[in-house]
Amino acid sequence: MFDSLNIPTDGQKVQFLNGKAQDTPNPIIGFIEGDGIGPDIWSATQNVLDEAVRIAYDSNKQIKWVEIFAGEKAHKKTGEWLPQQTTDFIKEFGLAIKGPLATPIGGGIRSLNVALRKQLDLYACFRPCRWFTGVPAPVVEPQNVNMTIFRENTEDIYAGAEWEAGSEASKEFIALAKKHGKILRDGSAIGLKPMSEFGSKRLIKKAIEYAIEKKLPTVTLVHKGNIMKFTEGSFMEWGYELAKEEFGAQTISEKELWDNHNGVAPAGKIVIRDRIADNMFQQALLRPAEYSVLALPNLNGDYMSDALAAQVGGLGIAPGANFGDNRALFEATHGTAPKYSGMDKVNPGSLILSGVIMLEYLGWTEAADLIEAGLEKAIQDKQVTYDFERLMTGATLLKCSEFGNEIIKNMKSA
Ligand code: NAD
Repeated sequence: MFDSLNIPTDGQKVQFLNGKAQDTPNPIIGFIEGDGIGPDIWSATQNVLDEAVRIAYDSNKQIKWVEIFAGEKAHKKTGEWLPQQTTDFIKEFGLAIKGPLATPIGGGIRSLNVALRKQLDLYACFRPCRWFTGVPAPVVEPQNVNMTIFRENTEDIYAGAEWEAGSEASKEFIALAKKHGKILRDGSAIGLKPMSEFGSKRLIKKAIEYAIEKKLPTVTLVHKGNIMKFTEGSFMEWGYELAKEEFGAQTISEKELWDNHNGVAPAGKIVIRDRIADNMFQQALLRPAEYSVLALPNLNGDYMSDALAAQVGGLGIAPGANFGDNRALFEATHGTAPKYSGMDKVNPGSLILSGVIMLEYLGWTEAADLIEAGLEKAIQDKQVTYDFERLMTGATLLKCSEFGNEIIKNMKSA
C-alpha cells in the first residue's frame, strides 16, 4: 500500500498504550511540506528537530522521516489534492507533521485541513499559547499568558451542514422549524449546529487528562450556554458530568469549591469551571494568569486560539496539533502566506514549536526543551525574522533558514 513512499526499513511504527505514544527510538513519522511558504519553514524545522534529537540522544534516537503528500505537490504528482495514501499512512503510522496547505480553488474541497481532520477523526485541536521572553506583544504583561486550548474539531457550526438561501433544503428546514414552533425568516440561508455528548465528552476528557498530566490548576469550559442552551449549554453540563464520573478523585467543580472549601482547592485537585465565551475574551486580557487549560466547542475555540496567539506575539510562533485516538497531526497554525513563497523570509517558529509538541508527545522532553530554550535565546538576542525585526529596536534581520540555524547554534552551546 505504501510502496511508493520509501518507508525506512530501520524505522519503527509508534505504538500507543492507553492513548499515549510509547517510547520508540526510531519512529517513522510522516511530513507534508505544505504549499506557499511551507517548503521554507519545513526545511528549517526538519533541521532543528533532527539536530535537537542528535544533541539530546546522540545515536540512540532518530526520527525516520517519510514524505507524504497533500496540496499542490500532491496534485502535481497524482492529480489529487489529498491522496488516499496520505490519510492511510497517518492511520497506519499514527504521527505526521505538516506545513500549511492552500485551499484548492474550484474542485469541491472546502479546506484540505478540514478534510484531513474529518477523515482522520482528529477531534481535539490543541493550541498552547505562551509568551517567549523578548517577543514583541501587543499587551502590557504577555508573560501572564500561559493557556492551553483544546478545541473540538468535528462538530458545531463547522460540521459543514449548511444550505444556501432559497435552496430546497433551506426551505424544508424553515418549514420544519415552523412545525416545531420556531419562526425563521423566509429566504434565509440555514446552517446547523450539531453538538453531541460523545463529541463534547471525548474532547473535554483530553483537556482534563492534559491538566492532570501537567499538574495544572484549572480546566475552564468556555461556552455560550446562556443563549444556546441545548448545544453550548449541554457542552458545559457534559463537561461537569464527565469530570465527576471519570475524574472524581482528581477534580472539583468551582461550585463545590465555594460551597464546601471556601474557594481554596484541596491539594492536587483540578478545579473544573465554566465561563461564558464573551466574558472569557475579557478574562484572557484582564486576568490571564488565572487560566491554564481551556476546553471549547469548535467556533469559540477557533476565535479564542487566534486571539490568544495574537496576545503573545502572533501567528508566526503559534504552534498546533490535532489529536485523535492513537494518532496526531502537528501543524503550523498560519496559512501559506503566498506572497512570501520561496523567499526564505518568514518565521518558521510556528512549525518548529509544533515539532516541539510532537517531541513531547513522543516523550522526548530533553530534545523539546533544547529547542524551546534555543528559540527563546534567539529572540532574546534579537536574531529574528522580518515579522519580529520590524517591531524590535536593534534587532538583526535573519532569513527563515538562518533563524533555524541560530536555534541550532544556541542548542549546541547550551
Ligand atoms: P496566512 O496565514 O497565509 O497569511 C496572512 C499573513 O500572515 C501573511 O501575509 C503574513 O504577513 C503573515 N504570516 C503568516 N505566516 C507567517 C509566518 N510564518 N511568519 C511571518 N508572517 C506570517 O493567511 P491567508 O493569506 O488568509 O491564507 C493564505 C492561504 O493559506 C489560503 O489558501 C488559506 O486557505 C490557507 N490557510 C491554510 C491554513 C493551514 O494550512 N493550516 C491555515 C490558514 C489559511
